[in-house]
Amino acid sequence: MRKQAIIIIVIIVIGLVGFGLIQGGLIVDQFPFDTEGRYDSSELNDMGVIYANRSDIESYNEGYSESDSCPWGFIHNGIDFFYFNNSDVIAGAPGLVERIDLNDWGPEAAHRYTINVEIKFNGTVSLWYGFEPWTNSTLQQAQQVAMFNFEVGTWVAKGDVIANFLSAAGSAHIHFGVVQEGVWRDPVLYLSTSGYNELLGLIHDFHPTWDISYP
Ligand SMILES: [Zn+2]
Repeated sequence: MRKQAIIIIVIIVIGLVGFGLIQGGLIVDQFPFDTEGRYDSSELNDMGVIYANRSDIESYNEGYSESDSCPWGFIHNGIDFFYFNNSDVIAGAPGLVERIDLNDWGPEAAHRYTINVEIKFNGTVSLWYGFEPWTNSTLQQAQQVAMFNFEVGTWVAKGDVIANFLSAAGSAHIHFGVVQEGVWRDPVLYLSTSGYNELLGLIHDFHPTWDISYP
């Protein structure tokens, strides 16, 4: 009898600790995904741009393409935003910060550091913000992370200033894209009408004949 009582107590303790971890937000991979009333997550069809002002963008070199039949001549699964240093980075859609991955591109890329941020919109759609400050300094990588206004588990709203951008060298940019069911998709499929018009306007400021995407 004493042995059974101990087993029951152990099971209860394990259950309470597990419940505490979930309630404490340590486990953010929620199935099913639940916004708890923050926004309608049934479909992403209202995505906005991720800059506050067109004047924050220094240049525009490549958008989304599924083949090399595009002005930049190569397959590219996102849109690159070349911000001026310290510009505001805006959330294009609401969501839950799922991961912040620190990467080293290795010797072929001079050990440049990137920080990939995934913000989940719903159970299948995520926005990815690939911060590429164009540096091989771990101090500057840490500096970019310190300029984030979020951590894993933070809920963001569309239009929030989620970060300031660190431009350590001339090619610094954010590689921005939408992943649905594990596949990079054409961002145009998710933009609001105003978001589409604003982004196309930005692109035409630099390249009057370009489109946003070349699917
Ligand atoms: Zn890119």
